[in-house]
Amino acid sequence: MDHFTYKNGILHAEDVPLPDLAETIGTPFYCYSTATLQRHYRVFAEALTGLDAEIFYAIKANDNLAVIRTLAEAGAGADVVSGGEIRKVRAAGVAPDRIVFSGVGKTREEMAYALDAGILQFNVESEPELDALSDVARARDATVDIAIRINPDVDAGTHHKISTGRKDNKFGIAWPEARAVFAKAAELPGLAVRGVAIHIGSQLTQLAPFEQAFKIAVDAVRQLRSDGHAIDRLDLGGGLGVPYGIADPPSPADYGAMVKRVTAGLGCKLMFEPGRLIVANAGILVTRVIYVKRSAHKVFVITDAAMNDLIRPTLYGAHHAVVPVLQGRAEGTPEPVDIVGPVCESGDILAENREMVVPLADDLLVLRSAGAYAAVMASTYNARPLVPEVMVRGAAHAVVRKRQTYDELLATNALPDWMSP
Ligand SMILES: *Cc1c(COP(=O)(O)O)cnc(C)c1O
Repeated sequence: MDHFTYKNGILHAEDVPLPDLAETIGTPFYCYSTATLQRHYRVFAEALTGLDAEIFYAIKANDNLAVIRTLAEAGAGADVVSGGEIRKVRAAGVAPDRIVFSGVGKTREEMAYALDAGILQFNVESEPELDALSDVARARDATVDIAIRINPDVDAGTHHKISTGRKDNKFGIAWPEARAVFAKAAELPGLAVRGVAIHIGSQLTQLAPFEQAFKIAVDAVRQLRSDGHAIDRLDLGGGLGVPYGIADPPSPADYGAMVKRVTAGLGCKLMFEPGRLIVANAGILVTRVIYVKRSAHKVFVITDAAMNDLIRPTLYGAHHAVVPVLQGRAEGTPEPVDIVGPVCESGDILAENREMVVPLADDLLVLRSAGAYAAVMASTYNARPLVPEVMVRGAAHAVVRKRQTYDELLATNALPDWMSP
């Protein structure tokens, strides 16, 4: 459920009519609903009631400071994957002891920064990383809490580019081979081995792969305890899918019930890292039709948003529902259309073969479910400035990331001094 609904034929974000935002802000822009963010967080948290659980919102899904703050105020910590993300969550007001640091390629600089900030836990993904983290901690006379991410070799049944729990993925350390790595970690100075971590992929639409992986993780905790490790945390990662208008993923309640069943009696603090589930349907991308181009075979609706603004369709073949902002403005019988951007790539398709009443030039369209892995993945390809992000709360709105100006776009470029100005 979200808070983007029609009132008198006009699509609103909560109580804000989208044509008003398009008028004042210009298009394209991303728009986020506070009430939807809060609702999705609450639904997930309620599904975990009764468990000793903590939620760390995976900010890579949407790292806008206002989004992070909204979720932090609702009770979320943060799962981060870079030094830049640590800076973002701190700027948004997340307490250091609510931060978990994941990722396969943490540099020593990032480790030192995270350690000095006093984060809760490092999720380590390889043996060399273990050595590096031990060095960094020892140089500071510190001891850091770690979990080691195991790779259970489970097929998440999701798109191959967002599948992370197979043995040929770069993530985690294969189980049970990881037992030796836990043993090594216990010997290294500066490290306190606290947990097992797992994250098998994103946009999972079935519970079975989760259950299979969680059972392996639970067995790993038991095995590691009998090996002498004091494991008291189990990080189950994120990955629960959302309905993009095609698949029908399991509900958070069913997910929570399964987790309760699989982890019963384990006596670990459970940690969760949802990203997409919280933010995907709390955001939309608003765009304006520039031209409608008819060829003998196709109708192309050319919009001012493109693959550099929203790359998910190009990268993953992702589906975003497309709806008009004004109902009934375009007329006629539905036809298949391709909604494309101005970028000079044939892959610049936001929606392919959509059966819809062909919109008119200047019409506003909305790509739904654009709150996750959308604005964060934007680039300036084709020298297109980054588009703004707007947050709505009730009848109020605020621009929470400004549109990049052409001056800003050019500002980081420089000509070498051997070229005359
Ligand atoms: C990306 C990621 C997540 C979040 O995944 P979602 O599919 O957005 O829930 C959680 N944990 C780790 C380690 C990740 O890399």
